[in-house]
Formats: sequence, structure tokens, C-alpha cells
Amino acid sequence: MAFGEECDELARRRVDEPGAADHDRGDRLVAVRVLSHDRCVVGAVPDVVFDTFDAELVEFALQHRAESATGPPVEIDPADDFRRLLGHARCNDAGADVFPVGLHTRGAHGDVAGSGWQTGTMTTPESDSSVYLARLAKVRAAMAVSDIDTLLLSVGHDLPYLTGYTAMPLERLTMLVVPRDAGATMVIPALEAPRVRQVPGVFDLLPWGETQDPTAIVAGLAAGSGRVAVGDQMWARFLVELLPQLPGAEYTRAVDVVGPLRMSKDQAEIDALAAAGAAVDRIAGELQRGEIPLVGRTEAEVSAHLGRRILEEGHDKVNFAIVAAGENAASPHHHAGSRVIREHEIVLCDFGGTMNGYCSDTTRCVFTGEPIAEVAEAYAVLHEAQRVGVEAGTVGTPCEEIDRATRRVIDDAGYGDFFIHRTGHGIGMEEHEDPYIVEGNTLPLEAGHAYSVEPGIYVPGKWGMRLEDIVVATADGPVALNNSDHSLVGVG
Ligand code: ZN
Ligand code: ZN
Ligand code: ZN
Repeated sequence: MAFGEECDELARRRVDEPGAADHDRGDRLVAVRVLSHDRCVVGAVPDVVFDTFDAELVEFALQHRAESATGPPVEIDPADDFRRLLGHARCNDAGADVFPVGLHTRGAHGDVAGSGWQTGTMTTPESDSSVYLARLAKVRAAMAVSDIDTLLLSVGHDLPYLTGYTAMPLERLTMLVVPRDAGATMVIPALEAPRVRQVPGVFDLLPWGETQDPTAIVAGLAAGSGRVAVGDQMWARFLVELLPQLPGAEYTRAVDVVGPLRMSKDQAEIDALAAAGAAVDRIAGELQRGEIPLVGRTEAEVSAHLGRRILEEGHDKVNFAIVAAGENAASPHHHAGSRVIREHEIVLCDFGGTMNGYCSDTTRCVFTGEPIAEVAEAYAVLHEAQRVGVEAGTVGTPCEEIDRATRRVIDDAGYGDFFIHRTGHGIGMEEHEDPYIVEGNTLPLEAGHAYSVEPGIYVPGKWGMRLEDIVVATADGPVALNNSDHSLVGVG
């Protein structure tokens, strides 16, 4: 049976079912065709819950797609059909599924801000929603304190923090609109909509088609706002387009309301940081047991090896894998290169990635052979400085005091001139974020603050060393999330 006939057959069965309307048939046909030919859409489908009939359609579509990969090209335009599909959904007034491919709608089917678009959702574990609802409630409380009427978040980490969705950095606008006193809406390119895992009650999804003006939709949702907070990473072009559409509005940075919340990690976030930390600790262990060959390989080869292991240990991406041998280790952010690692030298490895949205970051140094006296003596000082820095992280202690604690040990031993950076940085969804562990930061540590303690000693032209753990402040004292051997291990 030809593709078209098969579609018609399936559609006929659909129409025969009680309650099915004609427009469903058309939508489903388009959907099947789109599913068959658009890789992106097909890729997004596994997250979607289908009813029995939809499941049949999709199975058929996927099967057909596999066949058509070898057969003659089919004369339809997937993008155009997808537009038609969504265009039809827009004028659906029957209260039926807005996304006819089986994306089940929930809640009210009313218009959103007069756009004529309706809300749709995919199913998601209920457990997610309480986390995001709690965060959104805190954001709204902070908005009230700062007298902010609307919060606008585009690309960047504040969006996944509040919704679980990470926007791709595209020229097409994705924007979460959070009015202080009304429901949040995610304005999203229609072709990205299938990637969104909706979180019940947290936000409504408002997909825009290729010929619509998304900033006008955002302006409609934010109309009448006096003060608007915008995310740091929103593309300038969208803000420039938005400014004249919200006359009289005053703008401020979203970091003022979201930043303090993101800094205080909840238990789920701490668990995620701990899991990522444990993963890089396993790699550090391999390094220290000599299971990652060093001598005779280039820094770049070892860096690539670490990167592979970071992914194999469950991270979604590698953020960095600094490998610096001998004199190169004196440059804290050295870029791993063609330098071949030799015997009897220090090798500094600072690596981390992102796992389930949260970052890992650890530094360990090994010595290829028995550590020479000069290096071993300095390392003993570094080790002590780092230990003291970790222990200084009690709730209520100003961040700068942790920096002072590590620096004091290194200064007292005479290496002060060689400790050329701050002691640490906050970590969470971003590898470097607030709170920074640096002189001048008087912010007192709170339970839930997560940060690195990473003093270093760098002697230009000779060698360098750094020792880094991620630490979480708790009511019971600091808890290190990295627990691999802290000593300068000699490897063969
Ligand atoms: Zn760094
Ligand atoms: Zn690091
Ligand atoms: Zn770090």
C-alpha cells in the first residue's frame, strides 16, 4: 500500500471512531506526514505520551520514514506541513487536542493573551512540578520585594532553573514571561515546542509560527508592566525589538531576583552536584592509580582521554579538561597542547562537566615518578591551605574569610607571591557563578551555598600546582563533594 493510501486508511479509522471530527483527520494526516519526514520532530516524539491510535500512527510514520530513506523522495514540504498543522491547531475551537499528534492538552483551553493560541502540554512526572512551583513562588516573592511586574527569561541558566527547559541559543525567540500576579507563559518557536517537557501548573506553552512576530506576543503578555526584569543572556536584538513595544517600562536585571535563589541550592541540586562530583572523583582515582597513561603522551591526548571519561561517567557534556605538565602547570588556565609529558614532573589536571544540569569541577596533581623535594615541600603547604579553606566554610562566615584562610597558610610558608588567583567560585548550573570566594566578598555563607576551594602555587618557568574540591555549606559544617586522594601521588 502506498504511503498516501496507508494514511487515508488510518485516517478513515480515526473518523469512524465516535467523537472524532473532520479536522482531526486532516491534522493527523499532516502530522503523520511530518513525522515521517522531519527528523527533528521524530527525534522529539519519544518524550510524548500517545494514546493507542496515535501510537499506531507514529509507529507507521517511523517505519515509513525508515523505508523512504532508501526510496524516492516524497513530494511534501515538512516545514510547511508542520506550519499547517500548528496553524490548524490555532483555530481549533472544539476543545480537542490542540497538538493532534497525541500531545495531550490539560487545564483550560482558553485563549492566551488574545492570540488565539491555546495551551498544550506533554505529560511529565508530577514530582518535578513541586520543585519548579516552589522556585517560581520564591521568584514572585522576590519580584514583589523589588517591585518588578514582569520577569523575562530567554537563553541562559535562569530558564532551566525555573522550568527544566534549556533554550537553544537560536535566532528564534524563546521567552518565559513571568507576570508577578498571573500564570507564566513560555513563548517558543513552534518547531522547538516538541522538545519542551511541560511541568504541570508551572507554565503554559505558547508556540509561535514562522510568520508571527514573537516579540509582539511577549509585549502582549507583558503589557502594562511598570518594571520589567530581563535575563542577562537575552539576545540584544530581542530586547531592542521589545523596548518600543513596552512604552514607559523601566528595565532591571533578572539576576537581582533569580541570582540569590540559584545561589542557595536545595537538596535535589546538592544531590546532583554530589553525583557529578563522585563521577569526576572516579576519574581522579584512575589518574592516581596510573590507569590513565601520562608519560609519552601529549597534554592534549590526556585531556581528550579525561573528556571521554567525563562523558562515560554520565556527564552530558565536558566543560573543560585542563592538563598542564611541568612548567605549563604554572599557568592556571593552561590550554592543553602538544607538550609531551615526561618523567619526573608534575601534571596538573583540572576537569569537569555538566551532569543532569549541574557541574563538576575538581583538580588533582600527580607526579610522574617520586616527587622531587622542592615540589613535595610546596605541595604539603598547598594541601594544608586547601584543608584549612574547606574547614573555614561554616555557615555565617563571610566568603572572603575562606580566601583569607587559604592565603594565610600559603603566605606564612613564603609562597604568597605565587598564589595568583582567588580561592574559589560558586558552582551549580554554571561552572562559575556566585558566590565567589574572594577578598571583598563579605556575603556570609548560608546552608546550601556550593563553591570551590582551589588554592594554587605557581612558580613561573618551573612548575605549578592546585588542589580543588567542591564544598557545600550545611548547618552541620562544610561538606566536600570531592573525596579522591588529596596527596601528590607518584605515578609510573
Ligand atoms: Zn577556573
Ligand atoms: Zn577546576
Ligand atoms: Zn574551579
